Amino acid sequence: MWYIEDGFKFAKHWLEQCKIPATERLQLATHYEIRDWVNPAVQELLRTPLSSLSNGDLDHLNIRLYSIIAKAKEALEKQRKLIAACPPSLPKDDQDFQTAWCVSHATCAKVWADTWWKVVARSILHPITPLDINTIVDFVKRIDHKGMSLPCKEDMLRKLETDGSPFNTLRGIEDGAIRSVLLACEFTL
Ligand SMILES: [Zn+2]
Repeated sequence: MWYIEDGFKFAKHWLEQCKIPATERLQLATHYEIRDWVNPAVQELLRTPLSSLSNGDLDHLNIRLYSIIAKAKEALEKQRKLIAACPPSLPKDDQDFQTAWCVSHATCAKVWADTWWKVVARSILHPITPLDINTIVDFVKRIDHKGMSLPCKEDMLRKLETDGSPFNTLRGIEDGAIRSVLLACEFTL
């Protein structure tokens, strides 16, 4: 039976070189039990507007898969809006508003919040070229937070790098969609 297995591997390798739409890859993955095609196909579909799916694409997706993708996209959009609408608070805001190194931490907090809304949120919510949330720390580094003390900005960047819980939620939604598609395609988790 080795020749059947080799033939399958050859066909899989050949198909991987072809530009096959993500929807068709999902269908083939289900049919031929190619689990490692599911993850990239789902991630591609989560980045693709539903309105750009052709009739051919829709023929490859059953209603359950379409529903999983649509719900995950809706959840991702809601989470992006939440991230935009709620600037992360400065690390010392709650317990020690006046930090040892900062003479005007209230000003830092105001500059941080204002800049988030005027620059970061606007980029996250941009309808055509939205900011990739995975690059948000580098994006914030490049912004001019005029009026905010440098140590406070560096403190905030460290917090964003280490406590990325709002951003982890986005990854959690993507992982949940992949798990749901695997189950719907009858793969074991
Ligand atoms: Zn400060």
